[in-house]
Amino acid sequence: MTARKVLLLVIDGVSDRPCRELGGLTPLQAARTPVLDRMAAEGVSGIMDPISPGIRPGSDTSHLSLLGYPPEKYYTGRGPLEAEGTGIRMEPGMIGFRCNYATVDESGRVVDRRAGRIHHTGTLSSAVEDNVNLSSFGIEFILRSGVGHRAALAFRGEGLGACVTSNDPKREGVYPPPFTPLRDSAADRKTADALNEFIRQAVPLLTRHALNRERKEQGLPMANTILIRGAGQMGTFESFTERYGLSGSVISAATLITGIGTTIGLRYVPVAGATGSADTNLDGKVKAALDELNEQDFVLLNIKGADEAGHDGLAIEKKNFIEQVDTALEPLLDARDRLIVVCADHSTPCSIRDHSADPVPLVIRGDGVRTDAVTQFDEIACAQGGLNRISGGALMPIICDLINRTKKYGA
Ligand code: ZN
Ligand code: ZN
Repeated sequence: MTARKVLLLVIDGVSDRPCRELGGLTPLQAARTPVLDRMAAEGVSGIMDPISPGIRPGSDTSHLSLLGYPPEKYYTGRGPLEAEGTGIRMEPGMIGFRCNYATVDESGRVVDRRAGRIHHTGTLSSAVEDNVNLSSFGIEFILRSGVGHRAALAFRGEGLGACVTSNDPKREGVYPPPFTPLRDSAADRKTADALNEFIRQAVPLLTRHALNRERKEQGLPMANTILIRGAGQMGTFESFTERYGLSGSVISAATLITGIGTTIGLRYVPVAGATGSADTNLDGKVKAALDELNEQDFVLLNIKGADEAGHDGLAIEKKNFIEQVDTALEPLLDARDRLIVVCADHSTPCSIRDHSADPVPLVIRGDGVRTDAVTQFDEIACAQGGLNRISGGALMPIICDLINRTKKYGA
């Protein structure tokens, strides 16, 4: 028997370094994880440099690498992928940006960079789309509201560049700086000029909007400007199906990961109650992934909460969240005819509260896969496994080989 279908489970930022609060163990070592440990015992383990040794990955560059799209070739900044994940269909050449709704006072100073953590800004984004006009630049734009105060913006037009500054002053009580080109190029200047015009038209329009007048009456900060950053030009991506001959889906609460998935043609599967934090609907995500494999060949499932605990430096919370994840993974044990691949996209050590280049643990389990002597899923035990130490770019070739979907090299 050979497993034919693949679940790639990325437990975002789960791997770590020794934590003082855990007696010198990592959260994965300290957590009770019977399900992950059984997968390690029944599968083949290793450690993986998501990009290459010593390179500290972002979640975006790492996921591209794991999916077989080398980031040095495909990564053009966070903006276009975030825009795609927010629901904008990004075509090659379009410029994408990440946005925050924010509050400016009458003089134009930023008084709240998140507009009181406003929710449901959809009507504001529609009003801007309907009334702001960039046709003098030959630009069509799309503005989509995301979760909370977040949004995404995309420009479509000729001769646009993506090397421009942000108008986010990164602190309150000051004026947002104007957009400027980062290079002496007409394309970048055009994008910067169009962004300045966009803000010039959007602020009075937003300030007058009924939703903001209501917020003002209630003493809430108005969402009357947009802070824009992370500009990038959308590249050209061969689809996942063309590349591997596999159909696929993505399940993730993080718009960035969803955006990477849909960019390469994976089907986005929303899951009710998926939040991207420790309170997420883990059981729902695991069930959705298994259901999806009835139809599709491949599912990318990203679970985010451990990364958040790492960024907050909370080792005990991270360990506790890992135990919750482990419990939710129990249904995977019955899916022997599925190739289950569990890894992280990078380490997020609590001691540094950011991503590090430490390699991540990896286990692959399913019908036909070899086993090794590893019986625990953690950074230290997996290093003794049969996969040894691989780079992220080797993951998809190994997966495709284990499901018999590769062509022979030579005779
Ligand atoms: Zn990540
Ligand atoms: Zn992170």
